[in-house]
Amino acid sequence: PLDKDEIGTATWSFLHSMASYYPKKPSKTQSDDMTKFFNIFAQFYPCEPCAVDFQEDIKKHPPQTDSRDAFAKWLCERHNTVNVKLGKPTFDCSKVHERWKDGWED
Ligand code: FAD
Repeated sequence: PLDKDEIGTATWSFLHSMASYYPKKPSKTQSDDMTKFFNIFAQFYPCEPCAVDFQEDIKKHPPQTDSRDAFAKWLCERHNTVNVKLGKPTFDCSKVHERWKDGWED
């Protein structure tokens, strides 16, 4: 089985990539579906203590799915909440597309 860190890194890679390729102008259906996706994801994420805290966090900070940039920023902030909890450095959210879609400048 994957350990907590492996599943975490694999999952963040998937989630941030999905956010960086999310439509710039999603339809109402796409936006509603992505919100549902996160509510379901938070229920079934395969690390129970992680899932419980993530459910709480997204209750306080519901998914922002009205545009690619808003969604990527929202997700980056959720990941930063976990980073802080684990004592890891926070990530500069102005750089999410560089990290997960476009590649670094240099
Ligand atoms: P990761 O945190 O896995 O990050 C991978 C890469 O993402 C980094 O190298 C960096 O380039 C980039 N990155 C970092 N921060 C951001 C950001 N804010 N936005 C965009 N990109 C970023 N682990 C626990 O021990 N306890 C928990 O409660 C817990 N909850 C989790 C909840 C969720 C929803 C997920 C997906 C994971 C959770 N994890 C939890 C796992 C944890 O977040 C890390 O994945 C794990 O600790 C491995 O960390 P890492 O240092 O390898 O980098």
